Amino acid sequence: MHKVVVLGTGPSGLTAAIYLARANMNPLVIEGDQPGGQLTLTTEVENFPGFPDGIMGPELMENMRKQAERFGATFERGWVTEVDLSKRPFTLKVEGKGEIQTQALIISTGASAKMLEIPNERENIGRGVSTCATCDGFFFRGKKIIVVGGGDSAMEEANFLTKFASEVRLVHRREELRASKIMQDRARENPKVTWSLNNTPIEVVAGENGVTGLKVKNNETGQEEVLETDGIFIAIGHRPNTAFLGGQIETDEIGYIKVKPGTSETNVEGVFACGDVQDNKYRQAITAAGSGCMAALDCERYLEGSAVHDWSQTLNK
Ligand code: NAP
Repeated sequence: MHKVVVLGTGPSGLTAAIYLARANMNPLVIEGDQPGGQLTLTTEVENFPGFPDGIMGPELMENMRKQAERFGATFERGWVTEVDLSKRPFTLKVEGKGEIQTQALIISTGASAKMLEIPNERENIGRGVSTCATCDGFFFRGKKIIVVGGGDSAMEEANFLTKFASEVRLVHRREELRASKIMQDRARENPKVTWSLNNTPIEVVAGENGVTGLKVKNNETGQEEVLETDGIFIAIGHRPNTAFLGGQIETDEIGYIKVKPGTSETNVEGVFACGDVQDNKYRQAITAAGSGCMAALDCERYLEGSAVHDWSQTLNK
């Protein structure tokens, strides 16, 4: 039986692991199918404090992992398919590895980019279809790009991509944008941004060398057309990775875990959440790391079963 299991190895999970390991809690950290989380999909990270010249995303995550290992955190690759949080110790079913029992659980499984789920989309990820402008924009220097979505992410990505592309076309399924006015204005004022509103994407068109177009259907006329492009950036939001919880932890209507404000506590005593899985608003590496620290301290206090915890002991170790 474990004292504490941390699910996920993004900045929140690894920060939680560093703090727990330093507090002699011997955390077991379970890495899913994307070790290091979303930062491993980015190139340079310029806004993580402490790195005046920036640091590559994968290197930052590798450093965090080494730091956790140095203090005794253990790591296991695995995919948690089911949990039983109705009684303590909690039980986690890990695909191909059986069951794990733990007194406390920290959920830091993050969020994943939503896809359109249209033909040829998944097959062409990395061949012109992307969900990350910061990671892949560089490859589209002087090329034509489509950004799909009508929210703040789409506006932000479109503006960002004009740094590289010759033209960025925003394709959105409705006439109205969901994005905030300031973000809309920025995109509308950008001379490199063109618009295809009220058009629903129905198929990615690709040849031997990757994406060549996006087939859309005009919602007013019903007419279909292929918009020529070299790349398609999908910016239609993220989905928190909480399906495996089977509704045992309280979430909002999208699936983000609800925590007690100002803490990492979920509705189940002994289960804590940190990082993007509980944050639809800030979604930054540094806020995720900060919330991972909170989860570790909350968890430590829970495991020690003491209402009056001397934080100076933890913080000054
Ligand atoms: P979002 O606000 O949920 O917008 C998603 C957009 O994608 C919507 O316009 C939606 O269309 C469209 N969409 C969803 N599913 C689709 C599908 N299957 N096919 C076609 N279109 C689809 O998501 P977001 O833009 O990622 O923003 C999430 C949160 O982060 C928001 O609170 C946002 O304000 C915040 N954010 C802030 C900033 C910033 O301030 N710098 C930057 C990025 C994100 P409909 O409108 O028709 O539903």
